[in-house]
Amino acid sequence: MNEATGGKVTHETEVVALKRRLAKVHRIITAGGLWPLTKGHVSCRIPGTDKVLILAHIHSTGRNLANTDVDDIVTVDVEGGFIEGMVEPVDERYAHTEIYKVRPDVQAVAHAHCPMATAFGIAGVNILPVGNRGAIFAPRVPILDFDKQIDTPERGRRVAEKIGDGCAVVLKNHGVVVTSDTIENVCITLFALEETAKLHWNAAQIGKVDPLTNSEVASVLTGHRYEEYFSHVWGHYAALDPWSDSQR
Ligand SMILES: [Zn+2]
Repeated sequence: MNEATGGKVTHETEVVALKRRLAKVHRIITAGGLWPLTKGHVSCRIPGTDKVLILAHIHSTGRNLANTDVDDIVTVDVEGGFIEGMVEPVDERYAHTEIYKVRPDVQAVAHAHCPMATAFGIAGVNILPVGNRGAIFAPRVPILDFDKQIDTPERGRRVAEKIGDGCAVVLKNHGVVVTSDTIENVCITLFALEETAKLHWNAAQIGKVDPLTNSEVASVLTGHRYEEYFSHVWGHYAALDPWSDSQR
C-alpha cells in the first residue's frame, strides 16, 4: 500500500467492518426467530457520507438470512439509488433511507415482520412501555395504517413521519421498523419491541395493562442507565450468532 491510497484503503476497511457487523445482526435476528416470514433487513449509515449499507435482494439469488455474509450487504445513496454490490438492494430500502434523511441521530434501521408486535397493529392497539425493556418505547408505539410494501420514497416518508422522533413504528398488517444509534443497538431494539409486545399481551390476558410512568421510564433511561440498557444485554444476543469467530 502506498501513502497515496492509504486514506481510501482505510475507508474501505471501515466499510467492510460495518458490513461484517450488519451481516452478524442479520444472523442473530434469524437465530432469535424474528424473521417469521423469512424476510427483513437491517441498514446503517456510512459515517461522514450520505451513503447507506443495506441488505441485498438475496432471496432472488437463493441466499438466506441465516447465512448473511459481507457480500450480501450493498451500498445505496440516501435517495435509495444503488451504488455498489453484487445484487440490487431490497425493494423496501425506502423504509430506511427516508428516516436517515430526516433523523441525523439515527445510525441504524431495522425492518422485520415480528408476529406479536405486528398483531398489535392489526388490532389497532398501541404497544405500551411495559416492563423495564419497554421503557424506550414510551409513551407508546405508533401504528401506520398502511399495509403495502414500503417500496417508494413517498411510502418511506410515511414511515418516517409516523415514527417521528421515536424509535419504533408498527406497520399495520405488515411488520415493524425500529431505529437506533448503532447496528448492535438497533438489533437489541428489535428484540425489545417484540418482547414488550408479548409482555403487554400477557398482562392484558390477566387484567388492566398499567404501563411504566414517566418517572419510571426516566429511571431506566437516564444517564449511564441508557448505555447499560443496551450494553448489558448485547453479549446475550451476540452469543446467538451461529458463526464462530473464524467464520466472521
Ligand atoms: Zn416488509
